[in-house]
Formats: sequence, structure tokens, C-alpha cells
Amino acid sequence: DLAIYNCVFFGPYTQVVYENVALGETRICTNIELAQEATQLAGGLRTLGIEKGDRVLVMLPNRPEVLIAYQAIARAGAVIIPVLPLLKPPEVYYIAANSGAKAIVTSTPFLPTLRNALADLSTMRHMIVTDTDEELAGSPHVIPYKTVVTQGEEYADHSLSDLDEHAPTADDMAAILYTSGTTGQAKGVVLTHSSLIANALNGWHGASPDGDPRENFGETHLAILPLAHAYGILMLDIAYLSGVKIVMHPRFDVHAVLSAIERHRITFFAGVPAMFVALLYTPDADSYDTSSLRNCGSGSAPLPMEVLKGFEQKFHCELGEGYGLSEASAMLTSHRTGMPRKPGSVGTSIPGVELRIVDENDHEVPTGEVGEIIARGPNVMQGYYNMAEATTETLRNGWLHTGDMGRLDEDGYLYIVERKKDLIIRGGFNIYPRDVEEVLASHPAVIEAAVVGVPSQRMGEEVKAFVVVSSPIDVEALITYCRERLANYKTPSQIEIVDALPRNTIGKIDKKELRKRHVS
Ligand code: ATP
Repeated sequence: DLAIYNCVFFGPYTQVVYENVALGETRICTNIELAQEATQLAGGLRTLGIEKGDRVLVMLPNRPEVLIAYQAIARAGAVIIPVLPLLKPPEVYYIAANSGAKAIVTSTPFLPTLRNALADLSTMRHMIVTDTDEELAGSPHVIPYKTVVTQGEEYADHSLSDLDEHAPTADDMAAILYTSGTTGQAKGVVLTHSSLIANALNGWHGASPDGDPRENFGETHLAILPLAHAYGILMLDIAYLSGVKIVMHPRFDVHAVLSAIERHRITFFAGVPAMFVALLYTPDADSYDTSSLRNCGSGSAPLPMEVLKGFEQKFHCELGEGYGLSEASAMLTSHRTGMPRKPGSVGTSIPGVELRIVDENDHEVPTGEVGEIIARGPNVMQGYYNMAEATTETLRNGWLHTGDMGRLDEDGYLYIVERKKDLIIRGGFNIYPRDVEEVLASHPAVIEAAVVGVPSQRMGEEVKAFVVVSSPIDVEALITYCRERLANYKTPSQIEIVDALPRNTIGKIDKKELRKRHVS
């Protein structure tokens, strides 16, 4: 259904208010402006020779131009490859080379780095910048976005019929999302238009099965998740479906967020646990009027129970945890309004998604037992781009193997236990870092904790914790606190107090980096 399918990437736009508080910049876009620019850029892309199925990178911080670029690429029948703006040159090179992209849409601050990084990549033909800069004059491969738009205008009539002719079908590739590679080499997750639509619609309906999801989400959403990530894209699609006003910020700044909630009467926003931690521990948060907040959503990493409870109490709004991964377009489970909440769980599967918990031989385990979470549904990826082996390993018998360990209770609520790769095996005993992290986080002086396995000659692995504290604390006393609440074998043998935990580009704690830090 084209009308529904139009919702994703070039749908019934809502008003977008872009605010860059640090620079004092604001842009208000109407839906008509966005649609016009997207159509023109789509025409411009085709004029440049971008064909149906060609890959186009988009490397931009959250700005309205991201929406325009995504919509334009989709209209031109090409494939969107979002690139997180914080990626380093070799990482961007890897994505550009692996995908064979022909063009990149970006802005001038990224140009010097990108030019160097992509110089010897013959497949990359055009760099399109969303802002114009005099320095660009005379550079053959860099085309100011406005110029492309103008070209689009010149070719408008031709382009529009051309666009309709090349419009993608629901089963065409829509996007390749490169996972951040916190567990290894980044892999390109191939998603069709229909998988993205299925995820948006099912996630939206699933939020409020018996009522109108719009009531659940309210009328004004704050977009602070990176729009270059599956989670940010899904929340954008949900905003489109709800027909709401979107307030967009380029990055998370706790005071800017609180002020935006007050000024725009924000009703809903989705974030990662680090954002809820920051909001919870901001001492002057209650000097802002946040009474408009109805609902918030947390995903992408475990939300400590203390943070969930503390946030709900402080902001008088529901915080629902969901779970998903790029390989499933974004969302597999969520909490629904009207259904009993079970703290510690990530809710139940959204409509259309089937979940199972299996052992190493792919046999389903009894209810309540821990195993690998596998999933099936219309939102599951087609595979990894140009990685047949990894695809066969991950998609087995039509089921997506998530690499996450969890359990399902008798009511179908899912509890994430751990990432398979983060499991610690100490002297033959399995330890789930999350159990230890929850105990550490329950200590009044601990703001955040991350637990990893570090090599040990005697035990194979030892438990090490990195903690951020709000007031000075004796490490030995903290170890004793853990020992009183955890089996001896789970108690950390080492605790390191740090100023901050390393995070990846979406704000997830980077455990690979923590393991590295220990070694060095
Ligand atoms: P990579 O998979 O390469 O390490 P990534 O972590 O960036 O990269 P994403 O698709 O962004 O990949 O993240 C998906 C993962 O995030 C899930 O497999 C799961 O481990 C974790 N995750 C998502 N939501 C939750 C949650 N609510 N609780 C715990 N973990 C979660």
C-alpha cells in the first residue's frame, strides 16, 4: 500500500522545529517545504546519475536536511546508508567501500576529512553538501546541495515523472544500516521498505493495542536520538505515523532537553539509558516544568532498575523499556499501555514478531529458562550486505539469532540477561555482568557501573567493575557491599573508579573499550 509505505522516509510530514541551543540556531520547517526540497534533491540525484538501487551515504548530525536527504534518496529509488557523524575516517572509508556507494550527502565541516578519507575510492563519485561554501568553487566532485536542488528544479518536470517511474517497490532495498561494531567488524544490515514499514506500524500499534497510539505518544515529540541509527529512524517514523510536531536537537544536552520539554510542552521522547541517568542526576531538573511529559521510551542498552524507578518518580511520567537491534529494523519488544508492567523486563513482542529462547542446538528451552533470543517477523533484515557467511550464521531457518541471552516468562514478557559476547565465565561458572551492575547501581554513591570479564590465569576470567560515583567511596567497602548481596564467585575482584564510562556513538557503554583499558 503506497500510502502507508510513503509514511516511511517521505510521508505525511509534520512540522519540524530544529534547535541548536549551543549556536542559538533555530529552523522551523513546514511539511510542504520539506517535501519540496526532497523532491528537488531526488531529481538532482537522478540528474547526477544516481540510479535505482545505487547506494548513497548520508553523514549529517540531526538536522532537517537528514529528513530531506533520506526522503530524496528513497524517492530516487536509491538506498540510504546513514553514517553516524562521530565515525572516524577509516570507519567511513570501510562503509563507503563495503557498500560501493556512489555519493555522499554531508556538510562542509566534514569535507576536509571525507575528501582525504575517500580520495582513492573510485566508486565514490559525488559529495553533496547541504550548506554552500565559497571554498567549494572549482572542486569537481563536490556539489553544493542547493546547486543540486537547482538542477532538480530545472529538470523538475522530467524528474518528477522519472521519479515515479523509478519509485521503489515495497520489496526493494531501502537502507543499509551499519551496526556500530561494538562486538566486532561493522556489518551492513540490509532492510527493505516493507521491513521498515512493518516495524514502524507494528511498533506504533503495539504501543497501545486497545486504544489510539496517538494518545500514548501525545502531540509533540523530541528527537534526540541520532537519526543515523535504527532506533532514531524508527522513532522518527513513529512520529510521522502519529502526525505530531517534532522538535529536533543535534545532540543530547541535559539542560537543552529540559528547557525544550518546558517550552514546547514535549509529550514523548525516546532515549538511551545514559540520557535518563543524566536527567535523573541533574540537581536543578525540578526547576523546569516537565509536567507535559506523558511517556518516555528507553532502549539500546540495559536500563538499571534504580534509574527506571528514580526517573518515573522524579518526572511523574512512565518510562517503558523496549528491546531491539538493527537486524530487526529496530524494535522487537516494548511495553504497552494498559498491560501490567513488569519492572526488569523489556515488555512483550510487538505485533507480527515471534520470539523464542533456544539452546546451543537451536532447541527451544522451557519457559523461564535462559537461552539465546531468536526472532521472526516482517521487520527482520534480508541479510548483511556482501557478507554471505555472517548472514547464514545469523539468519537460520528464517529466524534471526540475536546474540542476546534472555528468558521469557509465562505471560510472554522478555527479560534480557546479557549479550552472549559479554558473558563472563569465571572458573567454569557463567556470570551475567548485569546482575553485578544492578547491585553496584543500588549503592547510594554509585551513579553508573559497567562490569566486564578480564583475563585471569587462575580462573580464565575475573570480574572487574568500572564505576562512576557521586561521592568518594572506599573500593574495599564497595567490594564488601557486593559480597553481601552476590555469590562470592560473582563479586568483582577489582573495582576501578572512573570519571565517565566510554560510550559508542549512540551512547551505549563500550565494553570492548573497557576490556582494552584493563589490558593497557
Ligand atoms: P553491534 O551489534 O555490532 O555490537 P550495536 O550494539 O550498535 O552493534 P545495535 O543494533 O545498535 O547494534 O544494538 C542492538 C543490541 O543492543 C542488542 O543486540 C542488545 O544487545 C542491545 N540492546 C538493545 N536494547 C536493549 C535493552 N533494552 N536492554 C539490553 N540490551 C539491549
